[in-house]
Amino acid sequence: MPDLRDCILLHGPDLVPHHCRRFAWEHDTVTGIELGAPCAQLDQGRLVIIPGLYNGHTHMGDSALPDGATGLTLEEGFFRPNGYKYRELGKLTAETHLPHLVGHLGYMARTGTIGHLDFREQGAHGARLLRQASEITGVESIILNQFDTPPFTAADLNANTASLPASARDELAAMLAVADGFSESTMNDLTDAAWREIRTTTSASKKLRAIHCLESAAYRDRSLAITGHGDLIRAIEIYDADLIVHLTVADADEIALLVRSGKTAAINPRANASLGLPLPPVAALLRAGANLLLGTDNGMLNSPSLLAELDFTYKLAKSQAGDAVTPDPATILKMATTNIRPLLGGDHYGYLDRGLPADFVVLDFNQPHLRATRHLTASILTRVTPADVLATYRHGRELWRDPRWV
Ligand SMILES: [Zn+2]
Repeated sequence: MPDLRDCILLHGPDLVPHHCRRFAWEHDTVTGIELGAPCAQLDQGRLVIIPGLYNGHTHMGDSALPDGATGLTLEEGFFRPNGYKYRELGKLTAETHLPHLVGHLGYMARTGTIGHLDFREQGAHGARLLRQASEITGVESIILNQFDTPPFTAADLNANTASLPASARDELAAMLAVADGFSESTMNDLTDAAWREIRTTTSASKKLRAIHCLESAAYRDRSLAITGHGDLIRAIEIYDADLIVHLTVADADEIALLVRSGKTAAINPRANASLGLPLPPVAALLRAGANLLLGTDNGMLNSPSLLAELDFTYKLAKSQAGDAVTPDPATILKMATTNIRPLLGGDHYGYLDRGLPADFVVLDFNQPHLRATRHLTASILTRVTPADVLATYRHGRELWRDPRWV
Protein backbone atom coordinates (compact mmCIF):
# COMPACT_ATOMS: atom_id res chain seq x y z
CA MET A 1 0.00 0.00 0.00
CA PRO A 2 1.57 3.40 -0.99
CA ASP A 3 2.25 5.87 1.80
CA LEU A 4 4.05 9.07 2.79
CA ARG A 5 5.86 9.37 6.12
CA ASP A 6 6.82 12.16 8.49
CA CYS A 7 4.90 14.85 6.63
CA ILE A 8 2.33 17.57 7.38
CA LEU A 9 -1.35 16.91 6.63
CA LEU A 10 -4.23 19.38 6.45
CA HIS A 11 -6.76 17.24 8.26
CA GLY A 12 -10.56 17.18 8.20
CA PRO A 13 -13.04 19.80 6.99
CA ASP A 14 -11.38 22.58 8.99
CA LEU A 15 -8.05 21.91 7.20
CA VAL A 16 -6.03 21.96 10.43
CA PRO A 17 -2.31 21.29 9.76
CA HIS A 18 -0.98 18.38 11.80
CA HIS A 19 2.22 16.41 11.91
CA CYS A 20 1.48 13.08 10.25
CA ARG A 21 3.68 10.06 10.92
CA ARG A 22 2.08 8.13 8.07
CA PHE A 23 -0.47 8.88 5.34
CA ALA A 24 -1.51 5.75 3.39
CA TRP A 25 -3.94 4.99 0.60
CA GLU A 26 -5.04 1.89 -1.26
CA HIS A 27 -6.73 2.02 -4.66
CA ASP A 28 -9.09 5.01 -4.42
CA THR A 29 -9.32 5.39 -0.62
CA VAL A 30 -7.31 6.90 2.24
CA THR A 31 -6.67 3.89 4.46
CA GLY A 32 -4.41 5.22 7.19
CA ILE A 33 -3.66 8.55 8.88
CA GLU A 34 -1.33 8.51 11.91
CA LEU A 35 -1.70 12.07 13.18
CA GLY A 36 0.70 13.84 15.48
CA ALA A 37 0.31 17.25 17.11
CA PRO A 38 -1.16 20.27 15.30
CA CYS A 39 1.58 22.17 13.49
CA ALA A 40 1.12 25.78 12.41
CA GLN A 41 4.72 26.45 11.37
CA LEU A 42 7.85 24.65 10.20
CA ASP A 43 11.37 24.70 11.55
CA GLN A 44 12.68 22.48 8.78
CA GLY A 45 11.30 21.46 5.42
CA ARG A 46 8.54 18.86 5.03
CA LEU A 47 6.16 17.49 2.45
CA VAL A 48 2.72 19.03 2.98
CA ILE A 49 -0.42 17.11 1.94
CA ILE A 50 -3.53 19.16 1.18
CA PRO A 51 -6.91 18.09 -0.25
CA GLY A 52 -7.22 18.07 -4.06
CA LEU A 53 -8.57 21.43 -5.22
CA TYR A 54 -11.90 22.10 -6.96
CA ASN A 55 -12.28 24.95 -9.43
CA GLY A 56 -15.83 26.29 -8.99
CA HIS A 57 -16.18 27.96 -12.40
CA THR A 58 -14.42 27.52 -15.72
CA HIS A 59 -14.99 27.73 -19.46
CA MET A 60 -12.18 25.46 -20.62
CA GLY A 61 -13.57 25.37 -24.17
CA ASP A 62 -11.90 28.68 -24.94
CA SER A 63 -8.58 27.65 -23.36
CA ALA A 64 -7.62 27.03 -26.99
CA LEU A 65 -7.29 30.85 -27.31
CA PRO A 66 -5.06 32.03 -24.43
CA ASP A 67 -5.20 35.83 -24.09
CA GLY A 68 -7.05 36.02 -27.41
CA ALA A 69 -9.43 38.74 -26.21
CA THR A 70 -6.64 41.10 -25.19
CA GLY A 71 -7.47 44.56 -26.50
CA LEU A 72 -11.11 43.65 -27.24
CA THR A 73 -14.20 44.91 -25.40
CA LEU A 74 -16.43 42.42 -23.59
CA GLU A 75 -18.85 42.49 -26.53
CA GLU A 76 -16.10 42.07 -29.15
CA GLY A 77 -14.44 39.27 -27.21
CA PHE A 78 -17.15 37.16 -25.63
CA PHE A 79 -20.69 37.77 -26.88
CA ARG A 80 -22.72 35.38 -29.04
CA PRO A 81 -22.88 34.93 -31.96
CA ASN A 82 -20.10 37.05 -33.48
CA GLY A 83 -17.65 37.70 -30.63
CA TYR A 84 -14.02 36.59 -31.12
CA LYS A 85 -14.53 33.57 -28.85
CA TYR A 86 -17.48 32.15 -30.81
CA ARG A 87 -15.95 32.89 -34.21
CA GLU A 88 -12.70 31.17 -33.27
CA LEU A 89 -14.37 28.18 -31.55
CA GLY A 90 -16.37 27.69 -34.73
CA LYS A 91 -13.14 27.23 -36.71
CA LEU A 92 -11.84 24.38 -34.53
CA THR A 93 -12.53 20.74 -35.34
CA ALA A 94 -12.74 18.06 -32.66
CA GLU A 95 -9.22 16.97 -33.67
CA THR A 96 -7.71 20.45 -33.34
CA HIS A 97 -9.72 21.40 -30.21
CA LEU A 98 -9.20 18.31 -28.04
CA PRO A 99 -5.41 18.68 -27.55
CA HIS A 100 -5.97 22.18 -26.08
CA LEU A 101 -8.51 20.82 -23.59
CA VAL A 102 -6.22 17.95 -22.63
CA GLY A 103 -3.27 20.32 -22.25
CA HIS A 104 -5.15 22.74 -19.99
CA LEU A 105 -6.74 20.01 -17.86
CA GLY A 106 -3.22 18.62 -17.48
CA TYR A 107 -2.06 22.06 -16.32
CA MET A 108 -4.92 22.12 -13.80
CA ALA A 109 -3.68 18.78 -12.40
CA ARG A 110 -0.12 20.06 -12.11
CA THR A 111 -1.39 23.08 -10.18
CA GLY A 112 -3.28 20.87 -7.71
CA THR A 113 -6.79 20.79 -9.18
CA ILE A 114 -8.70 17.48 -9.33
CA GLY A 115 -12.12 18.72 -10.51
CA HIS A 116 -13.86 21.69 -12.07
CA LEU A 117 -17.39 22.91 -12.82
CA ASP A 118 -17.41 23.97 -16.45
CA PHE A 119 -19.94 26.07 -18.37
CA ARG A 120 -19.44 24.21 -21.67
CA GLU A 121 -20.55 25.93 -24.86
CA GLN A 122 -21.31 24.24 -28.19
CA GLY A 123 -24.13 22.01 -26.94
CA ALA A 124 -23.79 18.22 -26.69
CA HIS A 125 -20.83 18.22 -29.10
CA GLY A 126 -18.93 20.54 -26.76
CA ALA A 127 -19.84 18.40 -23.74
CA ARG A 128 -18.60 15.22 -25.42
CA LEU A 129 -15.28 16.83 -26.26
CA LEU A 130 -14.66 17.96 -22.67
CA ARG A 131 -15.75 14.54 -21.39
CA GLN A 132 -13.05 12.98 -23.57
CA ALA A 133 -10.39 15.35 -22.20
CA SER A 134 -11.54 14.54 -18.66
CA GLU A 135 -11.22 10.80 -19.26
CA ILE A 136 -7.74 11.22 -20.76
CA THR A 137 -6.38 13.40 -17.94
CA GLY A 138 -8.31 12.04 -14.94
CA VAL A 139 -9.37 15.57 -13.90
CA GLU A 140 -13.10 15.43 -13.17
CA SER A 141 -15.07 17.73 -15.46
CA ILE A 142 -18.53 18.48 -14.06
CA ILE A 143 -20.11 19.68 -17.27
CA LEU A 144 -22.88 22.28 -17.23
CA ASN A 145 -23.90 22.49 -20.85
CA GLN A 146 -25.12 25.52 -22.85
CA PHE A 147 -27.34 25.62 -25.92
CA ASP A 148 -25.34 25.84 -29.13
CA THR A 149 -28.09 27.90 -30.75
CA PRO A 150 -29.88 30.56 -28.67
CA PRO A 151 -33.55 29.44 -28.63
CA PHE A 152 -35.17 32.90 -28.60
CA THR A 153 -35.15 36.10 -30.66
CA ALA A 154 -34.78 39.50 -28.98
CA ALA A 155 -38.53 40.05 -29.49
CA ASP A 156 -39.33 36.71 -27.74
CA LEU A 157 -37.13 37.70 -24.81
CA ASN A 158 -38.71 41.15 -24.46
CA ALA A 159 -42.22 39.64 -24.46
CA ASN A 160 -41.09 36.99 -21.92
CA THR A 161 -44.01 34.65 -22.64
CA ALA A 162 -42.74 32.00 -25.10
CA SER A 163 -41.96 28.48 -23.98
CA LEU A 164 -39.00 26.49 -25.31
CA PRO A 165 -39.29 25.70 -29.02
CA ALA A 166 -39.29 21.99 -29.92
CA SER A 167 -35.77 22.23 -31.38
CA ALA A 168 -34.41 23.58 -28.07
CA ARG A 169 -36.28 20.88 -26.15
CA ASP A 170 -34.54 18.25 -28.31
CA GLU A 171 -31.16 19.93 -27.84
CA LEU A 172 -31.68 20.02 -24.06
CA ALA A 173 -32.38 16.26 -24.02
CA ALA A 174 -29.26 15.60 -26.10
CA MET A 175 -27.13 17.79 -23.80
CA LEU A 176 -28.41 16.19 -20.59
CA ALA A 177 -27.62 12.74 -22.00
CA VAL A 178 -23.91 13.71 -21.89
CA ALA A 179 -23.58 16.55 -19.37
CA ASP A 180 -23.98 16.78 -15.60
CA GLY A 181 -26.27 19.77 -15.79
CA PHE A 182 -27.36 22.93 -17.55
CA SER A 183 -26.00 26.46 -17.61
CA GLU A 184 -26.72 29.63 -19.53
CA SER A 185 -24.93 32.95 -19.71
CA THR A 186 -27.56 35.09 -17.98
CA MET A 187 -31.17 34.89 -16.78
CA ASN A 188 -31.93 37.36 -19.60
CA ASP A 189 -31.11 34.79 -22.32
CA LEU A 190 -34.28 32.70 -21.77
CA THR A 191 -37.92 33.38 -20.90
CA ASP A 192 -39.37 32.60 -17.48
CA ALA A 193 -41.47 29.81 -19.04
CA ALA A 194 -38.28 28.25 -20.45
CA TRP A 195 -36.51 28.49 -17.09
CA ARG A 196 -39.43 26.70 -15.41
CA GLU A 197 -39.35 23.95 -18.00
CA ILE A 198 -35.56 23.50 -17.68
CA ARG A 199 -35.95 23.33 -13.90
CA THR A 200 -38.52 20.52 -14.25
CA THR A 201 -36.47 18.60 -16.84
CA THR A 202 -33.19 18.83 -14.90
CA SER A 203 -34.91 17.88 -11.63
CA ALA A 204 -36.42 14.78 -13.24
CA SER A 205 -32.98 13.68 -14.49
CA LYS A 206 -31.20 14.71 -11.23
CA LYS A 207 -28.90 17.18 -13.04
CA LEU A 208 -27.35 20.39 -11.75
CA ARG A 209 -28.48 23.93 -12.64
CA ALA A 210 -26.07 26.88 -12.82
CA ILE A 211 -26.12 30.48 -14.05
CA HIS A 212 -24.06 33.69 -14.14
CA CYS A 213 -25.72 36.42 -12.02
CA LEU A 214 -24.87 40.05 -11.28
CA GLU A 215 -21.58 40.03 -13.17
CA SER A 216 -22.41 43.62 -14.00
CA ALA A 217 -25.30 45.94 -13.12
CA ALA A 218 -26.63 45.45 -16.66
CA TYR A 219 -27.67 41.87 -15.76
CA ARG A 220 -29.91 43.18 -12.96
CA ASP A 221 -31.16 46.22 -14.92
CA ARG A 222 -32.21 44.26 -17.98
CA SER A 223 -33.94 41.61 -15.89
CA LEU A 224 -35.84 44.32 -13.99
CA ALA A 225 -36.85 46.03 -17.23
CA ILE A 226 -38.26 42.84 -18.78
CA THR A 227 -39.74 41.01 -15.78
CA GLY A 228 -39.92 43.49 -12.90
CA HIS A 229 -37.48 41.32 -10.91
CA GLY A 230 -33.69 41.26 -10.62
CA ASP A 231 -31.70 38.36 -12.10
CA LEU A 232 -30.64 36.87 -8.75
CA ILE A 233 -34.15 36.44 -7.37
CA ARG A 234 -35.28 34.88 -10.68
CA ALA A 235 -32.28 32.50 -10.59
CA ILE A 236 -33.30 31.38 -7.11
CA GLU A 237 -37.10 31.38 -7.28
CA ILE A 238 -37.87 30.49 -10.91
CA TYR A 239 -34.84 28.44 -12.03
CA ASP A 240 -33.84 27.14 -8.56
CA ALA A 241 -30.14 27.26 -9.54
CA ASP A 242 -27.77 25.09 -7.51
CA LEU A 243 -24.73 27.21 -8.38
CA ILE A 244 -24.72 30.99 -8.87
CA VAL A 245 -21.62 32.46 -10.48
CA HIS A 246 -20.08 35.95 -10.08
CA LEU A 247 -22.20 38.24 -7.80
CA THR A 248 -19.68 40.92 -8.71
CA VAL A 249 -22.11 43.78 -8.07
CA ALA A 250 -24.32 42.09 -5.44
CA ASP A 251 -25.67 44.60 -2.90
CA ALA A 252 -26.46 43.91 0.77
CA ASP A 253 -30.05 42.81 0.00
CA GLU A 254 -28.87 40.45 -2.72
CA ILE A 255 -26.19 38.96 -0.47
CA ALA A 256 -28.84 38.38 2.22
CA LEU A 257 -31.13 36.77 -0.38
CA LEU A 258 -28.34 34.41 -1.52
CA VAL A 259 -27.52 33.36 2.03
CA ARG A 260 -31.22 32.78 2.91
CA SER A 261 -31.55 30.55 -0.17
CA GLY A 262 -28.68 28.32 0.99
CA LYS A 263 -27.28 28.23 -2.57
CA THR A 264 -23.58 27.91 -3.32
CA ALA A 265 -21.90 30.79 -5.17
CA ALA A 266 -18.66 30.82 -7.19
CA ILE A 267 -16.70 34.06 -7.41
CA ASN A 268 -13.98 34.79 -9.99
CA PRO A 269 -11.98 37.80 -8.82
CA ARG A 270 -9.09 37.63 -11.31
CA ALA A 271 -11.43 37.23 -14.29
CA ASN A 272 -13.59 40.15 -13.13
CA ALA A 273 -10.48 42.30 -12.76
CA SER A 274 -9.20 41.29 -16.22
CA LEU A 275 -12.45 42.49 -17.77
CA GLY A 276 -12.35 45.83 -15.98
CA LEU A 277 -15.37 44.90 -13.84
CA PRO A 278 -15.76 45.62 -10.13
CA LEU A 279 -14.26 43.01 -7.78
CA PRO A 280 -16.76 40.69 -6.04
CA PRO A 281 -17.68 41.60 -2.45
CA VAL A 282 -15.89 38.59 -0.98
CA ALA A 283 -15.53 40.04 2.53
CA ALA A 284 -19.26 40.87 2.73
CA LEU A 285 -20.21 37.44 1.32
CA LEU A 286 -18.02 35.70 3.91
CA ARG A 287 -19.37 37.87 6.74
CA ALA A 288 -22.93 36.98 5.71
CA GLY A 289 -22.09 33.25 5.77
CA ALA A 290 -22.36 32.41 2.06
CA ASN A 291 -20.98 29.05 0.89
CA LEU A 292 -18.37 30.23 -1.62
CA LEU A 293 -16.28 28.52 -4.29
CA LEU A 294 -13.46 30.06 -6.31
CA GLY A 295 -13.37 29.97 -10.10
CA THR A 296 -10.89 31.00 -12.76
CA ASP A 297 -13.60 31.55 -15.44
CA ASN A 298 -12.61 31.61 -19.14
CA GLY A 299 -9.48 29.75 -20.17
CA MET A 300 -9.02 32.51 -22.74
CA LEU A 301 -8.90 35.14 -19.99
CA ASN A 302 -6.98 33.45 -17.18
CA SER A 303 -4.68 30.58 -16.42
CA PRO A 304 -6.79 27.90 -14.69
CA SER A 305 -4.46 27.81 -11.67
CA LEU A 306 -6.25 28.02 -8.34
CA LEU A 307 -2.92 28.83 -6.69
CA ALA A 308 -3.02 32.24 -8.37
CA GLU A 309 -6.72 32.69 -7.57
CA LEU A 310 -6.25 31.81 -3.87
CA ASP A 311 -3.45 34.38 -3.51
CA PHE A 312 -5.45 37.14 -5.20
CA THR A 313 -8.66 36.37 -3.30
CA TYR A 314 -6.98 36.25 0.12
CA LYS A 315 -5.50 39.69 -0.39
CA LEU A 316 -8.71 41.08 -1.87
CA ALA A 317 -10.73 39.80 1.10
CA LYS A 318 -8.34 41.40 3.59
CA SER A 319 -8.37 44.68 1.72
CA GLN A 320 -12.19 44.71 1.68
CA ALA A 321 -12.39 43.64 5.35
CA GLY A 322 -10.24 46.67 6.14
CA ASP A 323 -7.92 45.00 8.62
CA ALA A 324 -4.88 42.70 8.62
CA VAL A 325 -6.47 39.74 10.45
CA THR A 326 -9.74 39.01 8.59
CA PRO A 327 -10.35 36.52 7.07
CA ASP A 328 -8.39 33.62 8.44
CA PRO A 329 -6.36 31.91 5.63
CA ALA A 330 -8.24 28.60 6.13
CA THR A 331 -11.51 30.38 5.25
CA ILE A 332 -10.07 31.17 1.81
CA LEU A 333 -8.57 27.69 1.27
CA LYS A 334 -12.00 26.16 2.05
CA MET A 335 -13.34 27.95 -1.03
CA ALA A 336 -11.29 25.51 -3.17
CA THR A 337 -11.76 22.45 -0.93
CA THR A 338 -14.32 21.83 1.86
CA ASN A 339 -17.01 24.13 0.43
CA ILE A 340 -17.55 21.82 -2.56
CA ARG A 341 -19.42 19.24 -0.49
CA PRO A 342 -22.72 21.10 0.07
CA LEU A 343 -23.01 21.53 -3.71
CA LEU A 344 -21.92 18.14 -5.05
CA GLY A 345 -22.20 15.64 -2.17
CA GLY A 346 -21.59 12.00 -3.13
CA ASP A 347 -17.90 11.18 -3.18
CA HIS A 348 -16.89 14.87 -3.32
CA TYR A 349 -15.61 15.78 0.15
CA GLY A 350 -12.96 18.42 -0.46
CA TYR A 351 -11.11 17.31 2.68
CA LEU A 352 -9.03 14.40 3.89
CA ASP A 353 -9.81 11.75 6.46
CA ARG A 354 -9.47 8.01 6.82
CA GLY A 355 -11.98 6.14 4.65
CA LEU A 356 -12.55 9.10 2.28
CA PRO A 357 -11.41 9.28 -1.36
CA ALA A 358 -7.65 9.56 -1.94
CA ASP A 359 -7.94 13.06 -3.47
CA PHE A 360 -4.82 14.94 -2.45
CA VAL A 361 -1.90 17.13 -3.48
CA VAL A 362 1.71 16.88 -2.28
CA LEU A 363 3.47 20.23 -1.84
CA ASP A 364 7.24 20.59 -1.52
CA PHE A 365 7.79 22.68 1.59
CA ASN A 366 11.50 21.74 1.47
CA GLN A 367 11.99 24.63 -0.95
CA PRO A 368 13.94 27.62 0.44
CA HIS A 369 10.95 29.98 0.18
CA LEU A 370 8.67 27.60 2.12
CA ARG A 371 10.71 25.50 4.55
CA ALA A 372 10.66 27.94 7.49
CA THR A 373 7.07 29.16 7.10
CA ARG A 374 5.63 30.79 10.20
CA HIS A 375 2.07 30.12 9.00
CA LEU A 376 1.52 27.04 6.88
CA THR A 377 -1.94 27.87 5.54
CA ALA A 378 -1.03 31.46 4.69
CA SER A 379 2.03 30.19 2.80
CA ILE A 380 -0.13 27.73 0.82
CA LEU A 381 -2.24 30.70 -0.31
CA THR A 382 0.49 33.20 -1.01
CA ARG A 383 3.80 31.43 -1.72
CA VAL A 384 3.22 28.00 -3.25
CA THR A 385 3.79 28.13 -7.03
CA PRO A 386 3.06 25.46 -9.65
CA ALA A 387 6.73 24.40 -9.40
CA ASP A 388 6.14 23.39 -5.73
CA VAL A 389 3.40 20.87 -6.59
CA LEU A 390 5.08 17.43 -6.53
CA ALA A 391 2.01 15.29 -7.22
CA THR A 392 -1.78 15.39 -7.58
CA TYR A 393 -4.02 12.36 -6.98
CA ARG A 394 -7.74 11.85 -7.60
CA HIS A 395 -9.33 8.64 -6.29
CA GLY A 396 -5.79 7.29 -5.93
CA ARG A 397 -4.97 7.90 -9.60
CA GLU A 398 -1.84 9.96 -10.16
CA LEU A 399 -2.88 12.90 -12.37
CA TRP A 400 0.46 14.68 -12.09
CA ARG A 401 3.86 13.80 -10.71
CA ASP A 402 6.94 15.99 -10.92
CA PRO A 403 9.53 13.82 -12.69
CA ARG A 404 12.18 15.25 -10.33
CA TRP A 405 10.36 13.71 -7.33
CA VAL A 406 11.52 10.14 -6.81
ZN1 LIG B 1 -18.27 32.33 -16.73
